[in-house]
Amino acid sequence: MTLFVDRLRETCHDMAFKPALVLSDGPDVGQVSYGTLLSSAMATSEWLSSLGVVQRDRVAVCLPKCLAAIQLHLGACSMGAISLPLNPAYSKPELDYLMRDSEAKILVVESNPGLTNEPESAPAVPAGRLVPIDTLSFSASMLRRDPGVDCGAKIVPSTPALMLYTSGTTGRPKGACMSHGSLTANMDMLRDAWQWNVDDSLLHVLPLFHVHGLLVALHGALHVGATTVLHSRFDAAATVRDLQGGSNTVFMGVPTVYRRILAEIGDARIHLPAVRLLTSGSDRLPVEVFRAIERHLGHTVVERYGMTEAGIMLSNPLDGRRVEGQVGVPLEGVQMRVIDPSTGKPTPRGTVGELQTRGPHLFLGYWRDPSKTRASFTDDGWFRTGDLGQCDENGYYEIKGRQTDLIISGGMNVYPAEVEHVLAGHPGVAQCAVAGLPDPEWGEAVTAFVVPGPKRPEESDLIHHCRASLAPYKAPKRFRFVQNLPRNAMGKVQKKALLATSD
Ligand code: AMP
Repeated sequence: MTLFVDRLRETCHDMAFKPALVLSDGPDVGQVSYGTLLSSAMATSEWLSSLGVVQRDRVAVCLPKCLAAIQLHLGACSMGAISLPLNPAYSKPELDYLMRDSEAKILVVESNPGLTNEPESAPAVPAGRLVPIDTLSFSASMLRRDPGVDCGAKIVPSTPALMLYTSGTTGRPKGACMSHGSLTANMDMLRDAWQWNVDDSLLHVLPLFHVHGLLVALHGALHVGATTVLHSRFDAAATVRDLQGGSNTVFMGVPTVYRRILAEIGDARIHLPAVRLLTSGSDRLPVEVFRAIERHLGHTVVERYGMTEAGIMLSNPLDGRRVEGQVGVPLEGVQMRVIDPSTGKPTPRGTVGELQTRGPHLFLGYWRDPSKTRASFTDDGWFRTGDLGQCDENGYYEIKGRQTDLIISGGMNVYPAEVEHVLAGHPGVAQCAVAGLPDPEWGEAVTAFVVPGPKRPEESDLIHHCRASLAPYKAPKRFRFVQNLPRNAMGKVQKKALLATSD
């Protein structure tokens, strides 16, 4: 296996003048060639060494999406340190917790107040470890600086490369630690599945502190020597403009991104001349959005399934049937199974159970938490994803939601995703989420949180609509009309927050 850092070095030597990054908006405007990217990553490694960073140290980077964030990530990985990108929207208490938990050697933050929502007071990092930089002058100086000699770090497949804190839907966020080997294995799998190639140009609108934007998107492109056109934040109008007019061949979004693009273009049907691949992930793509993308953008989106701890596991095929509402088949090299949580045995095809996975794509474990790591694996090395799903007779998987979101009402299992799918088909429902609320009679009552469309529907209409396609025990017993749904940075509905706001 050629590790991703070595492959990047090869690409940078072989195609030194090829554009690696096109920074088309925001403060960094310009192009960075592969040759320059490599020399600036090496210069950044040297800069990190000068601050005392050594192999396996965590390098926390809490910056807006910009060239400096990429240089620091690549600089840390290539010297054998552990890159730890953090969401710049974190509050001070969140940052304090992450710094304590990760024991990061340094925390790099933006010093230019015009470019960041700087926390009112600095996070709890020991003196000397908080490193404010002006991202613009930092990236320019790393581009100019003599890269010096290769630090010659010994990097093997098991060397940790990256730590990402999971979104923490249950309890405190956990630091998922990924190795050079697992990242490379997943990049190789995706290159083959999606036929990533050197002529691709990726339009990149996702954040860089999450597995989707950082690994699936940015590393996916760097791994094959493709060009990445980076938007510093998602803007629907600019995205449509660059998809329509540009030479971008690949685009990746979360369902919220596609919803906003569709809202931007309204009734129009647009032509995307260069695009060959649109993918969606990180959350369930509602069938009506899948169909609207087909109708208005002229592409059948490739929905895929993954998570921080395991990268991408399942994808609809590039060549072959892309099925709405399903996340496709295992990538080459990924093992998947569906387990009945009550017996621990595989379920028959077409029955819901917990998705488990095994293979070279898996993370190393949770940072300094061997008991959580142990609990997340079976004795024979299968990772428990905590997601419920099923596999049909053609080998295609469908995600039914998080195990923890499962509603047990009157002793019957209700999968929120199934009810949400039906409710979303009602013309008066703009958005919805379904969760269980404590109920003296049912244990948990299926409760629908509905953002109404322009004409608010009657509850009785919604019940009638659900009963037409669902068994009565699955139909919501209560409705709450809300103005919006709480979502995280990836646009995913935060059910805990939703339930907390409900009496
Ligand atoms: P994260 O670790 O933040 O990437 O979140 C991973 C979780 O997102 C998974 O465990 C799933 O619950 C969810 N997820 C990812 N992709 C999909 C998808 N295509 N459909 C439904 N849920 C998804």
